Amino acid sequence: MKEIQAFAEQFQKEMGWVISEESFEKSRASLLNNYMLMTTEVGEVAEELRKGFNLTATYIQEGMEEEKAFELSKSQIKENIGKELADCLAYMLKFYNFFGIDAEESFYKKMEEVKNRKNKDIVKK
Ligand SMILES: [Mg+2]
Repeated sequence: MKEIQAFAEQFQKEMGWVISEESFEKSRASLLNNYMLMTTEVGEVAEELRKGFNLTATYIQEGMEEEKAFELSKSQIKENIGKELADCLAYMLKFYNFFGIDAEESFYKKMEEVKNRKNKDIVKK
């Protein structure tokens, strides 16, 4: 993760896509713009899921067994969903870098916090 975070920082610098640190006003505008772009990428993940569910429904209508139809649809959206998740990760890493946060450290720390959380949701299995 440290490697991917450093790569993202270098890549975003080269592309001129770093969140501005020039002034409060420029940072504010740049943070809001990047936040907006990040949420559109999250929406693109939803689009791929939608595509996958529609494909599944089509295959079922054509007579395919449900689990098989879903497996086939998953394999057909796999590449694109990977791309959209990569887009999301790129924006997340940009935010981590702007705030000078170690993404890996932050992730493990948060997961530990979640594991020890008292108000856990009850999930039906
Ligand atoms: Mg995208």
